[in-house]
Amino acid sequence: MRSAIGVDIGGTKIKIVHVSEKGDVLKRMMKSTPNARGDSHEKVKNFLIDNLKEMLQDKDLVGIGFGIAGVIDRKNGIVIESPNIPSINGFRVKETIEKEFSLPVIVENDANSYAYAEKWIGAGKNFDNIVVLTLGTGIGGGIIYKGELFEGAAEVGHVVIEPDGRYCTCRSFGCLESYASGRAIVERTISSLEKGVESMLRESCGGNFYKLTPELVYKAALEGDNLSREVFREVGRYLGIGIANLINIFGSDAVIIGGGLIGAWDLFIEELKREFTKRTLKPLSARVKIIKATFKKDSGSIGAAGLIFKTSTHIAS
Ligand SMILES: [Zn+2]
Repeated sequence: MRSAIGVDIGGTKIKIVHVSEKGDVLKRMMKSTPNARGDSHEKVKNFLIDNLKEMLQDKDLVGIGFGIAGVIDRKNGIVIESPNIPSINGFRVKETIEKEFSLPVIVENDANSYAYAEKWIGAGKNFDNIVVLTLGTGIGGGIIYKGELFEGAAEVGHVVIEPDGRYCTCRSFGCLESYASGRAIVERTISSLEKGVESMLRESCGGNFYKLTPELVYKAALEGDNLSREVFREVGRYLGIGIANLINIFGSDAVIIGGGLIGAWDLFIEELKREFTKRTLKPLSARVKIIKATFKKDSGSIGAAGLIFKTSTHIAS
């Protein structure tokens, strides 16, 4: 049976999976990303080649797909800019890996390949038009349009939802990511604590606000902490605004939300839906389903492998 390799290169970890055409993971591997200041392309290249060699035993391999955190030149398979992985900026992934293994290579943004995994074998299987958001430290996203991955930037985390809002890592202001990501949750909570707002979080972080994590805020919310509950309701409200903007453009059938923060789904979904319904054109909001993603881990790498099958089918047909 045909199989493919999917590689997800993130800021801290590189995940490699060997996947069957049905989407079953046959083998997986995880390593730390060579991401020290000054790490050269040569070092990244050797690291990838050494680890891929271990996975490339199968005779029916159709190719290697990459999902990489950063801005990608798909056509040439080059990483244009990866803010969190400077060691791969400008790295010619496609050319380098194709030359080494004589197999087709595709390179995609990691959130886009995640979105494709949801369409291929996840929560989006039965929908043709989907907006996918991943809520982690930041916010990533991908768009599925007419059953295919929409090959745009899909940087949904940088949709502006407050014109004079908080500063964002992208150097703009008021981006969704500055209001509804893990990082935003922590910063928003600390700002209230510094102003003296009462909360059990003062104790749970031992008086050091900089030890706060989204998990601690989540736990406090479950125990009824008012500040923490308010923070998650705000996350829901801002997500509702951001998603309304996207649905007013794409009119998608489904919104799929994944990433680490969906553990807190019940704390933000009601507010999200209320705000979303208020701000989306009625005929569009009436039919859209807002659902949780299927994948927790491996999704970027599985999606990258899925894109290889799709591309190789196109070539064959
Ligand atoms: Zn931004």
